[in-house]
Amino acid sequence: MKKQGVILVIAALLALILCGAVSATDSSTTGGEGNLDVNASEPVDPILWLNVGYEYADDKINPEITVTDSANKSVAFEKTKYTDTLYKLNFTYAGVANETLFNVMVSAPGYKSQTKQIAVNQAGSDPEFIGSANFNMQATENYKLGREVTAKADQALNFATADEVLCITTAGLTYRNGTTTEDCLEGILNGSNGKISYGQGNLLTLRKNRADPVDFAFITRRGTDLTAVFFKNGGLTPSYQGTFSENMSQDHWTNIIVPAIGDDAFGYVSLANAWAIGLSTDVLRQAAFHGHVCLGTISGQAMIQTLLKYYPPTTDTGLPLEGVSYLVLGVPGNSDDDAFVYAMDDTPGKRAYIGVATMAGTNMVGFIRWNSQTNNGTLVVMKFDEDVIVNMFKRETGLTAYGGISSELKFNKWLVGKLQNDPVSLVTIVKELDGLTEEQYHYLAGYEPEKGNTTVEGHGLDMDYINTLNLPKATRQNMQYTVGNLTPEQIKQIGIDAAKKAIELFKAMGITIEKDDSRLTVLTSAGYVRLNGQPTDMTWDGLFDILGTRLSRATLLPVHSALWKSLIFEFAYENGTKVLTKTMHYDIATQKLVVDSKASYSIEGVLLYDPPYDALMAWLFHNHICGGSSPGYLLTDYILDNYPVGEDEKYIYVTTLDNCKDDIISYLLGVSAGSGTYYNIRLTTTDTSAGSNGGGGMNGMVGIIIKWNEKLKIGTAAIINWQSPDFARGSNSYEEYIKLYKGDTSSANLLSLHKISVEAERLITQEDLAFIVSGGSGSVNSLSYVIGLPVRSLSDLIPVQGGSQSDGSTSQGTSTGSGLITSTGSGTGGFFRGSVGTTGAAVNAATQTTITEAGAQPAGDAGKSYEVTQAGKQGSDDTPWGTYAVVGILSVLALAGIGFFFKGSLFG
Ligand SMILES: [Zn+2]
Ligand SMILES: [Zn+2]
Repeated sequence: MKKQGVILVIAALLALILCGAVSATDSSTTGGEGNLDVNASEPVDPILWLNVGYEYADDKINPEITVTDSANKSVAFEKTKYTDTLYKLNFTYAGVANETLFNVMVSAPGYKSQTKQIAVNQAGSDPEFIGSANFNMQATENYKLGREVTAKADQALNFATADEVLCITTAGLTYRNGTTTEDCLEGILNGSNGKISYGQGNLLTLRKNRADPVDFAFITRRGTDLTAVFFKNGGLTPSYQGTFSENMSQDHWTNIIVPAIGDDAFGYVSLANAWAIGLSTDVLRQAAFHGHVCLGTISGQAMIQTLLKYYPPTTDTGLPLEGVSYLVLGVPGNSDDDAFVYAMDDTPGKRAYIGVATMAGTNMVGFIRWNSQTNNGTLVVMKFDEDVIVNMFKRETGLTAYGGISSELKFNKWLVGKLQNDPVSLVTIVKELDGLTEEQYHYLAGYEPEKGNTTVEGHGLDMDYINTLNLPKATRQNMQYTVGNLTPEQIKQIGIDAAKKAIELFKAMGITIEKDDSRLTVLTSAGYVRLNGQPTDMTWDGLFDILGTRLSRATLLPVHSALWKSLIFEFAYENGTKVLTKTMHYDIATQKLVVDSKASYSIEGVLLYDPPYDALMAWLFHNHICGGSSPGYLLTDYILDNYPVGEDEKYIYVTTLDNCKDDIISYLLGVSAGSGTYYNIRLTTTDTSAGSNGGGGMNGMVGIIIKWNEKLKIGTAAIINWQSPDFARGSNSYEEYIKLYKGDTSSANLLSLHKISVEAERLITQEDLAFIVSGGSGSVNSLSYVIGLPVRSLSDLIPVQGGSQSDGSTSQGTSTGSGLITSTGSGTGGFFRGSVGTTGAAVNAATQTTITEAGAQPAGDAGKSYEVTQAGKQGSDDTPWGTYAVVGILSVLALAGIGFFFKGSLFG
């Protein structure tokens, strides 16, 4: 009987829906269902019937429904699903009468929320108060774009007949119509019929800042053939359709692909080719973070493998929350640095990555493994020797590494093979030293005895200093790691099991977890950590299958972790004004999930305040929330608003007052050490407090933003001064900061607003840039140098510099050039400034022609667009002509009798 009644109601509703005539006051009841779900002794309750349809009819999303009464008070209800679209809400409500109104809000990821007022009424002999409504959910503009672009790509490439499909996009952190574009990702995932998922590692996002265009590339693999279709800047007409295969002709690359795709062409093509040959999903994501697959990326990964083999991690060091197993002394400008920051979780904001342009080559890195029990460190210096590797490639394959696009892709393939089978062969170990003292450690890395106050400046990888230490040689361990043999399905099952376990754990607390419930967020190390050498991202797909949690919905949040850390799942449920957590980790030995008594992460602490998607992503990169990181979003806003980059310009950010916020700034600006666009110079609090607003703690001259013009070789450098806001005692600083992120300054807890000001803004030359990123010399540091620069106008600098076509700047330049570097001298700021004004200008004028000639020679016509690719903001580290260009510069410098030369990598 009951069933019949329900069916009758459904039929009636469907009829109404078909007529499109359901309105809030329509009573949907029909005769004969008087017994519907009602027991004679029950109180008379309201029942709401909702039909929820989606603009994309194949979307099967469990809608999130909330009900409030006319006084806006939340109403608890029981929800029953009858069909894919029909839901019944049952609840009790004191004093319900005919025409009582309820507000019903329906929301779903990728769709605009809808609220309707629904009246309930009794009808006929039915004692129930019944109301109904029809929700036709409209997709967001960004979701539509994701769906449409995927449908177009499917039409062009026919996903169903391909062996595999890949999507590479800038969507996510980029903005469209004023919002982040994660809904585009959601549209791609839902529109690809399971062909694309996070777990399979075939949705790669290039890291961009919000001002960058939203681009999409779809690539299908059939055997070894790759075919791509590319959509630029949110458009639905492909700007390129054709081959991405490694055997493409140079002519096709130069004259068709590069003009159609632009600066990122090499990024798309190199990632697609590495994906096609099975580069592991986590390394692919790291390469997407960097911008492309290249020698530096693969070598950086090989250096990490070498480090883990000979000097495996022991204990973590660092301030609370910021513990890391190693500290990296990087030299920005070569791609390897992005591997360390990403795969070792050695982020600059955690004071785990120091990036100073020292005289050591950009292909060199120092790792410090600090033992905080014995107060003693091991220092290992490695490099990848480009000449050696290129020669090895030539010997083994007969090919020239940078002979054109095809040979570069083959070089990449060969490198991937080396990384998989013999990573140590790509690495040169320069030094292995033991007994590093605390004082020496602090000299290299800087020292911050109390939060926010740095007493010792960091000097980075200062080889001259290291060589004077006479430390004893360290003893290698020789770890043997066996790679596990779990299938992707088995790894996915771990996610499924974790999700089911979480549902049980919450059920025991009386909480029912529904699929697609936005109140549940999973924080996990999956995707970063490995299980016996195997990537763990397939667990994401398992979690999604059960819970509907996904990164594009901001409900599955991969927390930045070093690849050797444990696989952790933390389930955070927003229950009213509280967040409840259940945490578990995967025990490798027993292959079981073990429930932990404490939460592992802290990021759940901001969930209640609805942080912007990009703020959340940046916090994930930092791996925790903290007071120190909170200003980062506001500082990035300030920079993007006040220093927008134009044609041929890119950002270079130099941190001077280092703390957690620097992970947020570098992440959201889209700069990185590996691209040579981020430096981490740790000056002392005394130095950073010297600005007009004073300083101390987090306040003061926090960094230098440089807008660098690639063509003119001139930049604008601005010193950013930060003064923290003041919030009322007892208020939640995250809640208050997130309001500020959204531009809301109305909070009563906001006692004084933060202040961001520019301490000094100067036009700078290449020599100035070199000095700034080197950290300084003698008593002149990066900040005092900029302040001391004369105020010049563009016309002061352009006549001698303008027209230079150089894009040079490569890693090779450094190693090639190091022999020519005679001295940085005891030069003071005055000396350097002098050189800019006099000899510097002459040098620039001379290099201008030399670079153009040298650059044109090796690559020839065919190489031209290839140069364009590499000259993009992703770093131009691997071009052959770059070497020539820098050699050209060096010869000119030598000829001109210039006695010093900073770093090849800076000239680009
Ligand atoms: Zn690179
Ligand atoms: Zn922090």
